[in-house]
Amino acid sequence: MSIRPASELGPAEEIAVAIVGAGACGLTAALAAHELGAEVVVLERDAVPSGSTALSAGLIPAAGTRFQRARDIDDDPALFAADIMAKNHGRADPEQVALIAREGGPAIEWLADRHGLQLDIVEGFRYPGHSRLRMHGTPRRAGAELIDQLRAAVERADIPLIADAVVTTLFADDERRVHGLAFRRPDGREERLACRALVLACNGYGGARDLVATHIPEMAGALYFGHPGNQGDAIRWGAGLGARAADLGAYQGHGSVASPHGILITWAVIMEGGFQVNTGGHRFSDEAHGYSEQAVKVLAQPGAMAYSIFDARIAAVARQFEDFREAEAQGAIRQADSVAGLAALLDLDPDALAATFAAVDRAKEGAADPFGRNFAGVPRLAAPFHAVRVTGALFHTQGGLAIDRETRVLDQAGRPLPNLFAGGGAARGISGDGVAGYLSGNGLASAVTLGRLAGAAAGRLVVHSS
Ligand SMILES: Cc1cc2nc3c(=O)[nH]c(=O)nc-3n(C[C@H](O)[C@H](O)[C@H](O)COP(=O)(O)OP(=O)(O)OC[C@H]3O[C@@H](n4cnc5c(N)ncnc54)[C@H](O)[C@@H]3O)c2cc1C
Repeated sequence: MSIRPASELGPAEEIAVAIVGAGACGLTAALAAHELGAEVVVLERDAVPSGSTALSAGLIPAAGTRFQRARDIDDDPALFAADIMAKNHGRADPEQVALIAREGGPAIEWLADRHGLQLDIVEGFRYPGHSRLRMHGTPRRAGAELIDQLRAAVERADIPLIADAVVTTLFADDERRVHGLAFRRPDGREERLACRALVLACNGYGGARDLVATHIPEMAGALYFGHPGNQGDAIRWGAGLGARAADLGAYQGHGSVASPHGILITWAVIMEGGFQVNTGGHRFSDEAHGYSEQAVKVLAQPGAMAYSIFDARIAAVARQFEDFREAEAQGAIRQADSVAGLAALLDLDPDALAATFAAVDRAKEGAADPFGRNFAGVPRLAAPFHAVRVTGALFHTQGGLAIDRETRVLDQAGRPLPNLFAGGGAARGISGDGVAGYLSGNGLASAVTLGRLAGAAAGRLVVHSS
């Protein structure tokens, strides 16, 4: 990934707004720029756009939407922003948090009402740290469905998407204005495009082992569960242009990836009253803090694994997620009629597991939990008991290019670059600077909201200057 002088671009077809990456951010940006009358093209390294978006559960948090109002959920951007800031312990940029909290609701309604996405509120359980039900998802609660619906919307708008195109080079002048880009085809051929504005929507660097080792050493050897194409190209180009990157140590982990099946097990199994034990049959944490930091705690257990334990009632809630149904189909979810039977099935010490069940039951009846988890109002587990073996994984990085309120990429002095925009995982996130600051949904909230803002800002720039 390189920056070369604008003078080397040579003759190339000009497109007003070029967008690198066709995940949730890039496709949303394309819709927004197109709506303003800008000529847009999206470049995507894969043959079919998927990105980390397709691997996700596709749940987007937003506050004050008509979907919430229809269910009498009283929510507003200030409350959403407060939840985000509480989770990151005040370590994210409050203005960026306020922007995403404020613009998230309108973005969701715009995607549903203008572009036909089938979004609705996810009910049945609340994600840790969210004080209201505010996750919006497509019917199957699957990111693959979300990306398919976004792609269909882009196709309906007749926005060109060049697939099988790895953008390798940006051409910029001394004022750091991007004049165009080069991309590589699968047969090795290079093609070029000139542009007047560029949106970086190519996510973070979870797939780049060198950058992970540098910025997130505790995850250097961990399973990476995101899209392999997220190679840190945005921050590499940013560095070449003198842009500022921020919070590079921030990331979303997850402490609940079925092992060895490699399927995400929704955190609903924990929030509804399940818990995790290690191979000794002991609990080791307050699981309800959040699934992101739980990745590190699970990886610290013997064999870097744990068992998530729940029951049939909880499984019924989790079954609304396609991933969970797939895990059941693949035999990852195991069942036993008694605690002793579960211990035998999982090869755990029966006395230790029985003591753990008893302690959790006591905590659910009001006793203090040794790990400080608040089990208030959560029913005891009932036979048949369910369990799934899980490991911790790195899902996506949250650090990225510093941006202003219009998603313009900033330089080291805080000045905006002339025509470079970033959103989603390419931009700095809202999770502070570590693993524990990630509030569920921060990833797609940034992708969809900043994507819309970036597309609109790039669109305005080119439309006003033509
Ligand atoms: C298993 C999993 C579950 C998750 N669940 C949730 C959830 O429920 N809610 C939530 O909010 N977040 C979730 N996340 C995080 C969320 O998926 C991401 O934050 C979000 O998808 C980022 O969107 P994006 O558009 O920035 O990146 P992506 O969707 O990754 O899209 C980036 C695209 O850029 C392309 N690209 C990269 N470099 C280049 C290049 N040089 N040239 C051309 N193309 C390039 C990639 O191929 C990719 O298609 C989850 C993540 C994972 C891995």
